[in-house]
Amino acid sequence: MERGCTGRHFTVAVFVAWEGKVLLHYHRKLGMWLPPGGHIERDELPDDAAVREVFEETGLRVELVGEKREDVSDPVQLHRPAGVQLENIGPGHQHIDLIYFAKPRAVFITKEPAASRIRSERRSLGRPPSSPPITRHRWLGRVPRSSSPWPSSRSL
Ligand SMILES: [Zn+2]
Repeated sequence: MERGCTGRHFTVAVFVAWEGKVLLHYHRKLGMWLPPGGHIERDELPDDAAVREVFEETGLRVELVGEKREDVSDPVQLHRPAGVQLENIGPGHQHIDLIYFAKPRAVFITKEPAASRIRSERRSLGRPPSSPPITRHRWLGRVPRSSSPWPSSRSL
């Protein structure tokens, strides 16, 4: 979302864990490592946004893990976020972050996001092409220290 926007936006941040490591991507604008994440789009379910953001930013297909009722099918049950936080992004601009955990669907990691494939998928879903500011991603053995137990979403 462009700078200067205002309002409260629902966003997701996803910690993808695999063999004791967590997947982070390097955010060029902020110069820091962050979990994949971003805005939940109009009419998009939070669970879908979480999976989509990981794919768009890392090229990795994931499935969410964590609490989700399996004994009720109607209404449809979604994953319960591991955390929810409100973050001030700028004047009049706040993010309501839903924090999730996920695991890879297959142990196959591309070095770069499949940009053309992502654009094609977004077009097929009737969504505008996006160009996430991604440079690279990495599996880290531990999450860097932070004053917050959850990631900043200032970049989202
Ligand atoms: Zn926003």
